[in-house]
Amino acid sequence: MPRYGWRQVAEDCISLDINRWVKEGAIGAYKHVTGGWKWIWNVNGEERSSIGYETNTLNPHDRWIRLCYRVKGEEESIDYKVELTTTPVHFGGERWWFLCPLCHNGRRCNRRVGKLYLPSGGKYFGCRQCYNLTYTSCNDSHRFDGLFRLMGAKMGMSAKDVKRTLDGR
Ligand SMILES: [Zn+2]
Repeated sequence: MPRYGWRQVAEDCISLDINRWVKEGAIGAYKHVTGGWKWIWNVNGEERSSIGYETNTLNPHDRWIRLCYRVKGEEESIDYKVELTTTPVHFGGERWWFLCPLCHNGRRCNRRVGKLYLPSGGKYFGCRQCYNLTYTSCNDSHRFDGLFRLMGAKMGMSAKDVKRTLDGR
């Protein structure tokens, strides 16, 4: 699992937008397709990241998209499934959702979301809440205090002073 010490803006993340996938035909009812997805830097059009995928929605009770990609600094490529689900829409048809595959304390998030994010330094795609909540709780709780104490001991400062210095206060 990724560690969540950094700040990450969703728009700066690599993300999967299910509506785009549906539009491109990569996700839909009764499909079994494979393909690849690429992210390009706006500035120079160079490839930023890419993943391979396999969508299988042939079985209405077991619909998933399998993602396969490599993360910087990792030897092995990552390969896992994200479950898919649908909800009916007013004018007929259905709306597609990812079920967030991230785990917290051994429990799957399983939140129904239209977008999954892969923040830099992250390993798995996850919902905004997963990444944001963890980030928020890291800051709001005193989870860093141990680290501050350690830094303080090395720098001859109190944990409080280290924190204040880092906060710029
Ligand atoms: Zn989640």
